Parts: sequence; C-alpha cells; structure tokens
Amino acid sequence: MVTILFSASDESWEKYRAPLETAFDAVGLDVTLSTRHDPETVEYIVYAPSSGLVDFSAFTRLKAVLNLWAGVEAVTGNPTLNVPLARMVDPGLTSGMVEYVTGHVLRHHLGIDDHIHNQDGVWRPEAPPLAQDRRVGILGIGALGAACATTLAGLGFDVAGWSRSQKTIDGITTLSGTEGLHAILARSDILVLLLPLTEATRGVIDGHALDRMPPGAVIINPGRGPLIVDSALISALETGQIAHATLDVFATEPLPRDHPFWSHPGVTVTPHIASSTRPPTAATVIAENVRRGEAGEPFLHLVDRDAGY
Ligand code: NDP
Repeated sequence: MVTILFSASDESWEKYRAPLETAFDAVGLDVTLSTRHDPETVEYIVYAPSSGLVDFSAFTRLKAVLNLWAGVEAVTGNPTLNVPLARMVDPGLTSGMVEYVTGHVLRHHLGIDDHIHNQDGVWRPEAPPLAQDRRVGILGIGALGAACATTLAGLGFDVAGWSRSQKTIDGITTLSGTEGLHAILARSDILVLLLPLTEATRGVIDGHALDRMPPGAVIINPGRGPLIVDSALISALETGQIAHATLDVFATEPLPRDHPFWSHPGVTVTPHIASSTRPPTAATVIAENVRRGEAGEPFLHLVDRDAGY
C-alpha cells in the first residue's frame, strides 16, 4: 500500500480524486490517497503550491513531490524539500496552451480586432498577409513552447524558438544564448513567452529587449508575469514600439483592479486561463510517476533544482 497525500485546493480534490483512483488502478498500484495523512506515513505528495504547504520537514518517509502545475517557481527553491520534484507535463495542458497561443496569434495576424471594433461603413478590401510572411518567435520551446511552435509552423508561420540549450525541431529556426535572444527579438512580429520563471528569465523582456523588436510588434505572454518589466512594456506601448500585448499572467494575481493593464487600449488581459491541467490526463502522468518511484525507475519530468525549472 503506497501512501499518497493530495495537497491542493478542495476544488482540485473534487476534480482529481476519481481520475487519480482510476489511474492508480490502471498501473496496478494499491494506494491510500487522502488530503490528510500522518506526515510520517506519507511517501508521495501530489502538490499544488497554492495548498499552503511550505514545510516538508515532517514528511520523513517522503520519496517524491509530484507537482500538479507546469510552473514550479514557488516550490523549487524550498530548502525543506530534499526529495525529487517532478513538474507537470500533461497532454491536456499542452493542447489547451496550443489552442490559446494559436488563437491569439491568429487574432493579431489576421487583424481581427479591426473588423470587430472599426465597423464604420467604409469598405477597405486589404487582405492580411499569409502566415508564411509573419514571423513568430517563441521564447521557451519546452513541452508547451515546442508544441505551439510546431502547430504554428504547420499553419505556415515563419517560426523561431529560443531555449537555454540548443534544440533541433523540424521546420523551426532554433536559437539559444544571448545572441540567439537578440536575433529572435529582432525577427519577431509576434513574440510568445513560454519560459519558466527563474533567476535567469526574470525581467528578460525589459526596455532593451523591447527596443530590439520590430516596431509595432505584438507580445503574447502566457508564461509568467515577471518575465516582463511592466513599466518598460507600458512605455513601449505608449510609443507604439509594441502595438499590443496579450497578457495571461502577472506579477500579482489576481491583477489588482487599479493596475494600468486593465484599462490600457493596447493590452488584453486574460485571467491566467491560457491552459490548465486536465484531471484525466494529468492523473495518468501522476500515477505513472508513482509507479516508476515504486519500481526504482527514473521519474518523468524531474525539475533541475539548480536551473529552477
Ligand atoms: P519546459 O520546462 O518544458 O520548457 C521551458 C523552456 O524554457 C525550455 O525550452 C527551456 O530551455 C527554456 N528556458 C528555461 N530557462 C531559459 C533561459 N534562461 N534561457 C533560455 N531558455 C530558457 O516548461 P513548459 O513548456 O512545460 O512550461 C513553460 C512555462 O509555461 C511554465 O514554467 C509556466 O510558467 C507556464 N505555464 C503557464 C500556464 C498558463 O495557464 N498561463 C499553464 C502552464 C504553464 P531548455 O529546453 O534548454 O531546457
């Protein structure tokens, strides 16, 4: 019997309980899964940082923490956590992100807003360019960014991606390092941020970065709010250097009511809904990782605690 603590919101427990039980059955594991266990008996924690659990030192038999979220910035630096930490890579989460990014890229590419907001009786028969003539850059081509990149390339967009290590993805221009960052900024009519938040990525989109972009470029940020220096973005929107920013994530969430992003005509705010884990598929990933832990096999999607993601 494997003892598993589910440490997330009550709402998550409602959604995850049955899919997890099904998934543990499917991998042949006999588990006791609960939101309450004596800490000294717990072997795995299925975890969301929002649960409020920050001190792991009482969990003396703990074998791994399995994060329910893709982002781990709230837990990776926790000094009381001395066991492997896995992040979430979930096909459902990936599909949702691909749909969000593709939808918002197409909105800007096709100039859909002009037709929705400027229907003024004047016939302007200017067709938008083809996707092949629109350069899209994606900062972060991991699980989510690579899936978005290949989908957008499949639609014909001229896609480049930037990552920490140099990657090879069919049909995508791949870049890394500082020079690669400068190059991708300079070629991105539409820039999508899908980096994790780490010490190295915080503030990566500052005034200098924005100045390197083509005038009138668009930014889409479903990554993490502090990747962007907000004041620099607002200045770039004021000058027209950046034509529009679609932002899903913010330094403070919920975004405070008086934040200038809410009322800025050049900003679209979405409330951290770009994507989320989907219990049926995410439960399968969690169960597979517990199975691996029990079989002495390497965990999937381990976080590199030094790199911070
Ligand atoms: P991954 O870890 O799979 O990918 C991260 C990518 O960022 C990798 O390509 C990585 O490079 C790159 N990267 C990391 N640090 C650097 C750096 N210093 N310089 C250049 N590239 C870097 O993460 P996911 O794709 O699963 O998720 C990305 C982020 O998306 C999450 O961390 C989270 O913040 C956000 N997210 C937002 C959601 C929302 O609803 N808004 C939902 C889910 C996730 P390399 O490939 O070399 O490792």
